[in-house]
Amino acid sequence: MDTKVLRKISYGVYIVTSREGDRFNGQAANAVMQVCSSPPVVAIAINKENLTHAFIKKSGVFAVSILAQDAPASLIGKFGFKSGRELNKFEGMSYRLGVNSCPIIEEHTVGYFGGKVTKELDAGTHTIFMGEVQEGELRNDAEPMTYAYYHVVKGGTTPKTAPTYIEKDAETKPEQKEGKSMKKYKCSVCGYIYDPAKGDADGGIPPGTPFEKLPDDWTCPVCGASKADFEPEN
Ligand code: FE
Repeated sequence: MDTKVLRKISYGVYIVTSREGDRFNGQAANAVMQVCSSPPVVAIAINKENLTHAFIKKSGVFAVSILAQDAPASLIGKFGFKSGRELNKFEGMSYRLGVNSCPIIEEHTVGYFGGKVTKELDAGTHTIFMGEVQEGELRNDAEPMTYAYYHVVKGGTTPKTAPTYIEKDAETKPEQKEGKSMKKYKCSVCGYIYDPAKGDADGGIPPGTPFEKLPDDWTCPVCGASKADFEPEN
């Protein structure tokens, strides 16, 4: 079976949040879809190992913030590659609480919806939470970020806990080989590839900047790892 075909399924990029008492957590997710219209019901696949999974299971409530195209890779990296067991992901973030008291991300989002879990389905590594939408707001008319945009434009990668993760280097994109004197470097923590031809727009690095010329305090735009954590790509 060629699992690469599964990469052709279209998704968005979302921050799914929940709470346990007055503790909050959230994570990046791509497997979010509306499954009924009246009343509106959504389905969300969440890895059983994630803290957000534990919170949703316990509280039975969730919110989904829909990321805009301008969301920096660092925001997705914070919610997608770090665990809420190790840091408070909301520190320094602009957020507010929805009707169900789940946090809603206010920056780089086009809107959000929140609801309560009405059904759970054990899907293996993930649980599919189905929930009735109780509140929602369309904040602006910015373009929502698609999963394809995240990968192609933002150079984003997929964590092991994502439902769409593929073993080995399936993430590596087929890119032009010739005509390049500047080497690409790969983050050994998250798999992000620094491509000198693209630079790092979020980090203020213009296209055409070789890896060697990056400032010493430059960090991986996805996971925040340091320059020393990068290895040359072959
Ligand atoms: Fe990284």
